[in-house]
Amino acid sequence: MRLAKRIEKLPPYLFVEINKKIAAKRAAGVDVVSFAIGDPDLPTPKHILDAMWKAAQVPANHRYPESDGLPEFRKAIAEWYQKRFGVTLDPDKEVLPLIGSKEGIGHIALCFIDPGDIALVPDPAYPVYAIGTMFAGGESHYLPLTAENGFLPDLDAIPQNVLKKAKVLWLNYPNNPTGAVADLKFFEKAVAFAKKHDIPICHDGPYTEIAYDGYKPVSFLQAKGAMDVGIEFHSLSKSYNMTGWRVGMAVGNAQMINALMRVKSNLDSGIPQSIQQMAIDALRGPQGCIADNVKVYQRRRDKLVPALNRLGLKVLSPKAALYLWARVPEGHTSASYAAKLIDEAGIVVTPGRGYGEHGEGYIRLSITLPDDRVDEALKRLQALKPGK
Ligand SMILES: *Cc1c(COP(=O)(O)O)cnc(C)c1O
Repeated sequence: MRLAKRIEKLPPYLFVEINKKIAAKRAAGVDVVSFAIGDPDLPTPKHILDAMWKAAQVPANHRYPESDGLPEFRKAIAEWYQKRFGVTLDPDKEVLPLIGSKEGIGHIALCFIDPGDIALVPDPAYPVYAIGTMFAGGESHYLPLTAENGFLPDLDAIPQNVLKKAKVLWLNYPNNPTGAVADLKFFEKAVAFAKKHDIPICHDGPYTEIAYDGYKPVSFLQAKGAMDVGIEFHSLSKSYNMTGWRVGMAVGNAQMINALMRVKSNLDSGIPQSIQQMAIDALRGPQGCIADNVKVYQRRRDKLVPALNRLGLKVLSPKAALYLWARVPEGHTSASYAAKLIDEAGIVVTPGRGYGEHGEGYIRLSITLPDDRVDEALKRLQALKPGK
């Protein structure tokens, strides 16, 4: 059988490979501790589950949903953006529910990219930006995120011939995998860039609620003029431990939202309504569950950062998101250090190279595993000798 070129061009999905490695170690009897995948270990809060259960009893919720979501859900999203960020959204034109934000992030390339077009994609990054671009027939031009530039892209360094063909700019703060954050000044610079070159912006912001030491991340849409040039993807996944329920949203520029809605209405039939109902209750209900989660993550972060630095890795304490982005010791690559950790300590991390060329020299640890497993990993890390 001959598959389409876009399938042949696909790199192996990062986590499929890692899962295979974990399975092999487990089969060999190793008690593996995995920091590989960013998926909250804590359960969905009970009041949110109750809303789903109640909605599931109503026969109207057993039928096809509308692909643009329940009007009440769009309203709840707009209210939440107003309350949390002071951003005003028209629930019918500037809000679009998604079957998890990944779905929209993948599909939106179809709105902007024709064959031969370019997407500006950070490196390292969440892989979906570049894959969606490739599926639509486009090419990614990578913007290096380095420690020296605070893991923010240098928009002034993009060559003129690339700018001419660029149809979209991807940004993601708080950032996966680096844990970096961006302020309004950076987003305002990005808006000015978008206006000058007529390049729309897609900002991916699922971690705005996961922040430490009292830091409060901003929304891209708070930047002056952002609504003219861009949209933001957000998600209930990380804020409310809802990765398995698949519910997120795109908000912002009406023309971009409408284009994505038209793609979606031809490909999918929306989010199950009982899940939309739970999302409504999550956004409108008590928000204390988020602060409780954050306390747990912060405690894990504060245990792991010193243990990693002692080993000769260089890792800063992130202000937000769920990841430690650690520079491996001199003489190691991402892959060789990840292999060392699994072989000498049964600890699985993601090689930074999996997120792009500029991820080389780093490993990523996700702090989404139970406390007793974090403590087990700490014990093993403390038993390792620093350096090579
Ligand atoms: C987790 C994550 C998402 C996807 O979230 P879903 O809403 O669960 O699809 C999107 N972008 C980044 C950078 C993420 O880390």
